[in-house]
Amino acid sequence: MQFDLQIDTIESWIRGRGFTSVALQLPEGLKLRAAELSDRIFRDTGAEAVVLGYPCYGACDLFIHYKRYAQGLVHFGHSPIPNLPQDPDVLYVEARAKVSIDGPLQAVLDKMPARVGLLASVQYIGLLPRAKELIEASGRTAVIGKGDNRLCYPGQVLGCDCSAALAEEPVVDGFLFLGEGDFHPLAAAFGVKKPLLVFNPVIGELRNVDGVRDRILRRRFAAIEAARNAQSFLVIVCSKVGQYRPEAADRIERQLRAAGKQVTRLVTDELSPAALLPYRVDAYVSTACPRIAMDDAACYVHPMLTVPEAETVLGLRTWDDYVFDSIS
Ligand code: SF4
Repeated sequence: MQFDLQIDTIESWIRGRGFTSVALQLPEGLKLRAAELSDRIFRDTGAEAVVLGYPCYGACDLFIHYKRYAQGLVHFGHSPIPNLPQDPDVLYVEARAKVSIDGPLQAVLDKMPARVGLLASVQYIGLLPRAKELIEASGRTAVIGKGDNRLCYPGQVLGCDCSAALAEEPVVDGFLFLGEGDFHPLAAAFGVKKPLLVFNPVIGELRNVDGVRDRILRRRFAAIEAARNAQSFLVIVCSKVGQYRPEAADRIERQLRAAGKQVTRLVTDELSPAALLPYRVDAYVSTACPRIAMDDAACYVHPMLTVPEAETVLGLRTWDDYVFDSIS
């Protein structure tokens, strides 16, 4: 798969801002291209391009301390998060997929419901208008919904934000998500009740994620049950700019203490099983990326809960009210 890394745009931006140095922040999948990008930028513009080796999972991870190392920052693979402070010395390169949707989508149109809600991860967001045209030409209706102000584009899904899908849900019979992998479509599948199909425009595959979603939800139920007798909780606050939710931590800490639980707040930048090993508690509540609890909980020695899951443990919700811990 080819992704548009917008080299010409990056180099014009560097020249236009008069930078002699930039930092490059890339998600793991694009780090393979880091040396090539750094070399090309230096040869074409004379600006030193420093590669940041820190893990990068989303725009929530924006490396705000880049001025220590360079005048500007080029952040690859994600769109800006509009409700966070914007910085003119940061350029986002979304790495849009270079793929045509026409033939592959036409081949599966007969599997679509009458009214379709369209969704995509940012790499495929540019395909949504064409997908809408093709679906409507088949006599169906297609809707691209606007989510909350954590999303840059209508129809966009983040791993922690399915608000565009929720906006579409009242007027559609089901959803079509354009993209690869399970991570983003699962966020939508956790949040909505209507059927969701995932279409990979690269290989033309149409599938659902019901099995993966149900397996994860069964594990979430087990984590909630395992935490019912916990007496001590570590409430985790992540200091990454787009994951910092002290209000959520304040709320769940109050609720836990009101229930007689012992509470310790941990502030950290990077959450991992090894980082939590020293803390002698019975369970964790993460206010960081909700997908750590949803997708990676099996790696932790104690139950790892999202905030709504911790409220279920306390009897403030029931399993029937289960909600995805969307960051908004
Ligand atoms: S909080 Fe998690 S799901 Fe949301 S953008 Fe960041 S890494 Fe992705």
